[in-house]
Parts: sequence; C-alpha cells; structure tokens
Amino acid sequence: MANQVFNFGAGPAMLPVPVMEKIQAEFLNYNGMGVSAIEISHRSKEFVAILEAAQATFRELSGVPDNYKILFVHGGARMQFAALPLNLAGRTATQKCLYFETGNFAKLALKDAAPFCDVKVVASGAATNHDRLPPYSSADIDQDAAYCHITSNNTVYGSQWQTFPDTGAVPLIADQTSEILSREIDYSKFGCIYAGMQKNLGPSGMAMVVIREDLLGFASEHTPLLLNYTELDKDNSLTNTTNTFAIYVVKLMLDWLKAEGGVKVIEARNRAKAARLYALLDGSGFYKGFVQPEFRSIMNVTFNLASEELEAKFLKEAGAAGLYALKGHRAVNGIRASIYNPMPTAGVEALASFMEEFERNNG
Ligand SMILES: *Cc1c(COP(=O)(O)O)cnc(C)c1O
Repeated sequence: MANQVFNFGAGPAMLPVPVMEKIQAEFLNYNGMGVSAIEISHRSKEFVAILEAAQATFRELSGVPDNYKILFVHGGARMQFAALPLNLAGRTATQKCLYFETGNFAKLALKDAAPFCDVKVVASGAATNHDRLPPYSSADIDQDAAYCHITSNNTVYGSQWQTFPDTGAVPLIADQTSEILSREIDYSKFGCIYAGMQKNLGPSGMAMVVIREDLLGFASEHTPLLLNYTELDKDNSLTNTTNTFAIYVVKLMLDWLKAEGGVKVIEARNRAKAARLYALLDGSGFYKGFVQPEFRSIMNVTFNLASEELEAKFLKEAGAAGLYALKGHRAVNGIRASIYNPMPTAGVEALASFMEEFERNNG
C-alpha cells in the first residue's frame, strides 16, 4: 500500500514511493545474494559497488568536477559543523573562519566551529529575524581567512541564496542539506559543500561531503580520525563500518533522480511547485509569507495566518485532509511546507487547494 498522505516534513523527509518499493522488493535478497544489502560487509565487493555507483551518479547529476572528492561521513550535517574547522582552519595562519549568520543552522554551525578556530561573522540577519539574507560588503570577506561558510538554503526560515557571494581566493563552503541536487549549481565556485542526507538524499544520520582536492591535508592533529576528511578520502569513506543501509538508499535516490530526468528537470519542477504556493500567498490577504520575496526558498515555504488559533485550526484540518507535518519550526511558528525533490506536483496542488478552501471558509 502506497503512502496515504503527502508528507511535508522538513526532515527526515518523504522518499519517492518507487525508491521505497525497490528497498522493500530486494530487502530480503539483494541482487540474488540470498542476504539483505544491510547484512553484507562494508568491504565486500558488492557494497563497494553500491558506494561507487552512488558517487558516480552523484557526480554525473551534479556536474561536480573531477578534482572534488565525494565522501560519506558519520553524524549528519551538524557533525560537520565541528569537522569543518578541524579540517580546514589550518589552511591559513590566522585560523580565521568566516560565517554568514542567516538562520538557525547557520548559527549552530558557527557555534560548533568557535572552539576550533577564530570565527568572524560577516553578516547576520538576526535583526529582522532572518526574513531576508543580510546585506554585506565584499570588503568584509577577509582574504586571509581559511574559508567562508554559508547555509545555502535556510530550512527553518525558508530563505535561500539565489546568487552566491564572491569570496575571491577564500574557499566558499556551503551547507546544502535542505537543497542538494534541487537546482543546478556551479560547484567549481565552491571549495566544499556538504549535506545531511535526510532531506533530498535518503536516510538521516550521515552526510555527504564534497571537497576540492587541494583543501585536503590541513586537518588539525586533534581531528578525530572518523571526521578527518583526508583520512576518509584515503579509505574511500570506509575507515570504519559505515552506515551501509543509508548509502544504499542514497544510491537508489540518485538512480531515481536520474530516471526523473536529472537536476535540470527537477529544478524546473521545484520552481513550479514553489511558484504555485508563493502566488497563492501573494494573492491573499489571509496568508502572510514569512520571507521577503527576493530571498524565498524553493524548498521550504513558510507563512503565517492571522492568529495562533487560526494556525492551529489550519494544521488540524490539513492533517485530517492528508497533508502531514506542516507545522513550522518553533523559531518562526506558523506553517512550513517542505517541498523537496520527492514531493510530487500533486502534493503541492493538494496543499494549494486545501489552502484556498480554508481561506474561503475562514477568511
Ligand atoms: C536539517 C539541517 C541540518 C541538520 O542536519 P542533521 O543531519 O540533523 O545534523 C543542518 N543544516 C541544514 C541547512 C539543515 O536543513
């Protein structure tokens, strides 16, 4: 039986039904081996083939150049918040690391980095409660910094970088957790990108790290082995027993995206999905979009209603109508529709129709 609801949860997020069906179909007997994919050694040739296929398909879909390494790292996105300075602050004598504070995860990232480097906040959107990306001057991108970090899509607030800052010689690093492979991006502009898997890539608890070769080799001696990108690269991410099931699901997700037509196709679909909801917000005095229009995310659509009571009623009735997990993050309250790659147009259409009807009944 397929899913009976549309899942708008921010993460772990929905997976495409064909991916889950494939997992189910081969769960007891992977590839005629008579065992499950989760029962085989991470060093077996069959698992290594899964891992390498995931890397190859990711490279093909993303267009990441050959001089970037694709790693699978434990601990989700937030484990990388500390791993980044441990691996990279030593690039420059200053140990200075630049951060854009554009939301909840951006703030957590710089907080976790602070014990391991000299954090400098380039700009912060806190003054307007992150309803936009803050203005900044390129003069603030100190060229003696080890790297500059952005959160390319701010999951909690629903804002997104539309164009990326020019950081000159300073490697740009992006937390792409809530948008990886959702739009075409020129990866050659980045030194490193990373993403927890549970939003666009698969199960929770691991991250994908894509790092330019020349940024390896700077890890502090205090870096735990399992967070050391240079060592992980040497072992092709198999330093210890990795989360084989997660990587297997990522491979299936990437195969699914490729079969859908790849990033260009999914981007057009994502933009149309988001446009449907934003047009509804803009045409209504009833719903109020949280983020200023020019910074809106195509992945997380956030909005409020006139009162908390009305929002509670909205959530209750939406739930009853099969629209699951629309409650906003506690930092913003209100409603958040997470419409990642797997969310079909029909799901967004169902939400939009529900919103129109709710407005008619309550406006
Ligand atoms: C969800 C999210 C995280 C947290 O990921 P974990 O895997 O739970 O650590 C970090 N950054 C962004 C941008 C996110 O959306």
